[in-house]
Amino acid sequence: MTETSAAAADWREAYASNLMKTFSQPPLLLTRGEGSWVWDSDGNRYLDFLAGIAVNSLGHAHPALVKAVSEQIATLAHVSNLFASAPQLALAERLLRLAGAGPGGRVFFANSGTEANEAAFKLARRNQSATRTRILSLLGAFHGRTMGALALTGKAYLREPFEPMVPGVEFIDSTLEALEANIDDTVAALFVEPIKGEAGVVALPEGFLERARALTSAHGALLIVDEVQTGAGRTGDWFAFQKTGIAPDAITVAKGIGGGVPIGALITFGAASELLERGHHGTTFGGNPLATAASNAVLATIEADDLVGNARRRGEQLRAAIATIGSPLVTGVRGAGLLLGVALTQPVADAIVAAALEHGLIVNAPNEDTIRLAPPLIIGDDEVAEFTTRFAAALADVEAVAA
Ligand code: PLP
Repeated sequence: MTETSAAAADWREAYASNLMKTFSQPPLLLTRGEGSWVWDSDGNRYLDFLAGIAVNSLGHAHPALVKAVSEQIATLAHVSNLFASAPQLALAERLLRLAGAGPGGRVFFANSGTEANEAAFKLARRNQSATRTRILSLLGAFHGRTMGALALTGKAYLREPFEPMVPGVEFIDSTLEALEANIDDTVAALFVEPIKGEAGVVALPEGFLERARALTSAHGALLIVDEVQTGAGRTGDWFAFQKTGIAPDAITVAKGIGGGVPIGALITFGAASELLERGHHGTTFGGNPLATAASNAVLATIEADDLVGNARRRGEQLRAAIATIGSPLVTGVRGAGLLLGVALTQPVADAIVAAALEHGLIVNAPNEDTIRLAPPLIIGDDEVAEFTTRFAAALADVEAVAA
């Protein structure tokens, strides 16, 4: 079946019979996007308040990204890591500067969030010794689906079908008490997701990262912050850890830094930059000119247009707008900047997602009592107003049934 005939014919059937059964049957076949809007194969328009799950930082078909990718693919798309390229060098420098990694910082390029975390897992292993054997991760946190990142993921139901896991990982509660009780000289690394996006946009307790930094530093353990979902300005800072003033040993990034072009990276700070040596890790595609040119364009636009500030301001505006709707189904809004979790009083998140779609709005349900909002960082007054009308209508539909 060609692409055009898939759009015209029964794409649902084609999806159901040809794609691996790992995902639910999608509700729509999307055909194009522009700004914060996408269109389906029937010509219907939707306000995209999910942005490919916190990926399309500049929305859809942003001229800066289109230009960078078009020019780069017409010039030099891929060279392998046997050679260097100018976009790769520029992006490494840019990421180190934005992360505040300092002069000792280094970057390893990958192609996704899970791959960035695989590299981070290797970094953690390099800090192990005969007596320093434990890697800590947080219960409920999500770090990816490949075997190393999955072993770090604090959701047993995701790990269990694929056991045995890569050994050495222990899960702790996201509390200051758990940090105190578990971090000692036997710990090689602590992995932290600063806002647990997949768990329902759940922030860490006040002072958690600061205490984690103090304890890991005191005991020679690495503090590795997974900024895959929170990075690239989404939370109203370039990276979520920057709200705290701490310096981690490493962060992982992906999603929003590429604006839709697959890319990920491990960024190390200071002495941790020396742990991975020649031959310790590798990748064919990671850091190729095409993906790094795309990421340079995305990050340069975020910087030039102050989209980090926009994320902060629009986040506040959205919170106020949701409060104004005054739905009895909503108890509050969690998160930061433009990574928001609308907390529900009843387990009706799936029904709200479906109703929103009917009203031309894309949002998602990371769990049964949370709606996640992760719109493009470019949203303005019009998008906030359109969202408010559509979300209010979706909530009203579900209120009518749930009452
Ligand atoms: N880490 C976090 C915090 C994520 O939210 C995700 C994806 O949702 C990942 C890692 C995995 O990234 P990817 O899906 O690009 O492999």
